Amino acid sequence: MRFRNKPWATEFIAENAYYCIPDPENHKGKWTDIFGNNNPIHIEVGTGKGTFVTEMAKANPAINYIGIELFESVIVKALEKAVAANIPNVKLLNVNAQKLSEYFDAGEVDRVYLNFSDPWPKTRHEKRRLTYKAFLDLYKEVLVPQGEIHFKTDNRGLFEYSLMSFSEYGLLLKYVSLDLHNSDFEGNIMTEYEEKFSSKGFPIYRCEVKYPE
Ligand code: SAM
Repeated sequence: MRFRNKPWATEFIAENAYYCIPDPENHKGKWTDIFGNNNPIHIEVGTGKGTFVTEMAKANPAINYIGIELFESVIVKALEKAVAANIPNVKLLNVNAQKLSEYFDAGEVDRVYLNFSDPWPKTRHEKRRLTYKAFLDLYKEVLVPQGEIHFKTDNRGLFEYSLMSFSEYGLLLKYVSLDLHNSDFEGNIMTEYEEKFSSKGFPIYRCEVKYPE
């Protein structure tokens, strides 16, 4: 997902600092102040255009959601949705998830969502995959003990790689589906990529894994 620079994006993001937090490093350990409550915090890493995080926030007002996206030209689309939703429990961070532990304290995050992460199929790009062991270290650092990662993708290669990576890391598999849309899983909220690939008939793979005690 790459876009040409949108000149208005920087301005729109600056104008909406209530939703797209400009200085996340200053809120490490203090996200309860930003949300004004002690509700659990769920983050989506690689949030893209933000349908998932915004719709989840609407459906679950007692959970605080934070969408993390690298590209300004992409997160601005998520920001438009958050502004339109006009709800207090969704925030966005325009940052690289490689620096997650600069923004969150140990145990501050209750769940990590990874949706349709970039597959980076070349072996030499393995370290960029959001399910690579260095990212699993980062999620562990910020998650509560026994915190969970919920992952879905249309990419079978990335799914197989990720199951291996989770297993080698010692994560416990709680749930797996090789065809989410024809499974008994309830309450699925589709992402932009999920709409696109499932409409073409591709099965959606999904799993939930948990860090051990
Ligand atoms: N989750 C969305 C969906 O399902 O529609 C977007 C999927 S898109 C393929 C992956 C997104 O992850 C891209 O927008 C990309 O910029 C973002 N991303 C990849 N690596 C990232 C990182 N290290 N930190 C933050 N965002 C990242």
